[in-house]
Amino acid sequence: MTTQIQIEGLASSQKSLKFTSLFGLSNEQLAVLLESFTQPSYRTRQLWHALYCQRVEALEEIAPFPVQLRQQMAAAGYGIGLPKISQVFTSSDGTERYLIACGDGACVETVETVWMPNGDGGERGDGSNESDGLYGMDGLAESVSQATPAEPYHRATICVSSQVGCAVNCHFCLTAKLGMKRNLTAGEIAGQVVAVLNRHQVRIGRDRINLVFMGMGEPFLNYAAFMEAVRLLVVGVGIPESRMTVSTSGILPGIERFATEPIRPKLALSLNAPNDAVRESIMPITRKWNIDSLLLALRAIPLRPRERVTFEYVLLGGINDRLQDARELAQLVQDSRLHAKVNLIVWNPGPDTPYQMPQEADVAAFQQHLISSGVSAYIRRPRGRDIYAACGQLKRTTA
Ligand code: SF4
Repeated sequence: MTTQIQIEGLASSQKSLKFTSLFGLSNEQLAVLLESFTQPSYRTRQLWHALYCQRVEALEEIAPFPVQLRQQMAAAGYGIGLPKISQVFTSSDGTERYLIACGDGACVETVETVWMPNGDGGERGDGSNESDGLYGMDGLAESVSQATPAEPYHRATICVSSQVGCAVNCHFCLTAKLGMKRNLTAGEIAGQVVAVLNRHQVRIGRDRINLVFMGMGEPFLNYAAFMEAVRLLVVGVGIPESRMTVSTSGILPGIERFATEPIRPKLALSLNAPNDAVRESIMPITRKWNIDSLLLALRAIPLRPRERVTFEYVLLGGINDRLQDARELAQLVQDSRLHAKVNLIVWNPGPDTPYQMPQEADVAAFQQHLISSGVSAYIRRPRGRDIYAACGQLKRTTA
């Protein structure tokens, strides 16, 4: 067989390529494909298992497939097409930032993905991390390494990108400076995760892996591909949805659709301000959907037992980190009547950004006020700041 099979549901750009990635195809798409190779239906199960459970990287690794079938598929232009890690930046805190190239060879852009060993780098004092650390400025020494990691990890968080660049234009975010380049496909989103799992030889079921869809891009502006990636990662790869969190800047139609999903990650709203005026000055998207409308949509999400909505709050020195902001935020969270928590994120400095880091004492006072008002509040420990891998820094692609 030398002609390309047309699979319903594939992106048109994917159809026209000579090479077609198998990774990222749904069960139904794989079934159609294998039928076109006149294969029995059990081949679909074998291929699904190889792609998502065994996480193979080449056709030759699909052991149950006869050699002739693998050759036919290769001749027809099919390959695994898993995204490849092209560069690794290693932080002094163990965080790794990757440039990941798309697997079909036609994608000139790289996306950025981050591996944070030993927890999500996240919430000082909530017990989710083995070593809760104080925030502080790291040195800016950057090391570049292609070496595979020496030690195995049993607990880590992977931060995943959903778009190349971003159209939302949050003023404190380096990714926004890229502008919007393109949406990633479901295979490219889920493939980032699998490429990193393979690099660290993660065994699902034994190792605890959390996913945060908080890398480059606004997932709800690439909704269908993002949710398809989630389904592949839950049903195929085997990562529980309860270990996934997606962050949105507040795309109202996306939140409304998300509320109806049978399989979905937890949700974080990137709030960053206690009122619309401050929010609008740092996140212009607020002009389209204000805080009240977002809270209304959040209340419509049927939360699972013990699930909480997260309000992310990037603290910008002198902009939104004052005690009066904390008071207003506490009131807002309480009035929302949501089962919620606040993650305070100390703003990560970057070139050409007009903001200042908040003072450590102000951060502590802000958190303390929220807690004493009865609002759960945690300070996220910045990870990989020295390699531009921390929140809002995913843009410094090579240095
Ligand atoms: S913070 Fe998120 S939504 Fe806002 S510009 Fe950056 S990547 Fe886009």
